[in-house]
Amino acid sequence: MKIIKKYRLPIILLAVFETVAVTLWLTLGNIFYLFNFSYIGVSVALGVFLYVRKYKHARRITQLLVGLYMLVYLGIVSNENMQIEGFWYYLFTGVFEAATIHYAVAKIFGPLIFGRGWCGYACWTAMVLDFLPYKTPQRPRKKLGWIRYITFAVSLVFVAALFLSHVGNIERIMFWSFIIGNVLYYAVGIILAFAFKDNRAFCKYICPITVFLKPMSYFALFRITCDKSKCVSCGKCKKVCPMDVDMTDNSRKRKNGTECILCFECTKECPKKAL
Ligand code: SF4
Ligand code: SF4
Ligand code: SF4
Repeated sequence: MKIIKKYRLPIILLAVFETVAVTLWLTLGNIFYLFNFSYIGVSVALGVFLYVRKYKHARRITQLLVGLYMLVYLGIVSNENMQIEGFWYYLFTGVFEAATIHYAVAKIFGPLIFGRGWCGYACWTAMVLDFLPYKTPQRPRKKLGWIRYITFAVSLVFVAALFLSHVGNIERIMFWSFIIGNVLYYAVGIILAFAFKDNRAFCKYICPITVFLKPMSYFALFRITCDKSKCVSCGKCKKVCPMDVDMTDNSRKRKNGTECILCFECTKECPKKAL
């Protein structure tokens, strides 16, 4: 009983993903969904299990398992464009494909529950950026968040233009846009990380997906909160946050509140267990 209580979170997470896996498999009649969501569920549950066991790299294990699966297996091997262009593409064609489901679960409705957990545990762009040396920002945040709306609009206009111009072999173009898009994301992400001395600069200023993620995660059910009766205002938590969140403020309007990636670096650092 004690063991079940200790590991209840990974057990619950596994059960939730399995429910999604079986429901989609039976309703859509496609066994891929059983495999896909079971794999992701096991990866997420394993990461949380390792976190409970205080393993230092628990989050990174999940990030690598899910990120590599999505980039290599779904993207490159299965030709499923899981980037934002792929989402627009399947939306325009009206096909309820993996990319559409992926966006609905991970980036549009899921954040209402788990906030930007996607950004902390699954994104294959951040999977690489998190290896860079600036795990906590070395410089103050810049007011460049408006760039995300431009990249968002460019991705939408690009796919709309393909449809309106009736180009042939659009599937092939989407595959290559996935490859080129990823190369560009990695290049820009790495350059910005070194220029701004901040691994997550790409996430803060450029990533178009945050246009979905930020407003939805404002309402997130799971969020870091601070027990004010324990907090001694030492500021150690803010020093380790990669996303500049003011996690000691419990209001939803707190500074950079929609940026939290649930990495738990702040909770690990707090000497009073106030978070
Ligand atoms: S902000 Fe964008 S690039 Fe960064 S982790 Fe989230 S989805 Fe990935
Ligand atoms: S350090 Fe805390 S507040 Fe900052 S992103 Fe990680 S979990 Fe969120
Ligand atoms: S590290 Fe803990 S005690 Fe210190 S300011 Fe943050 S929440 Fe408060």
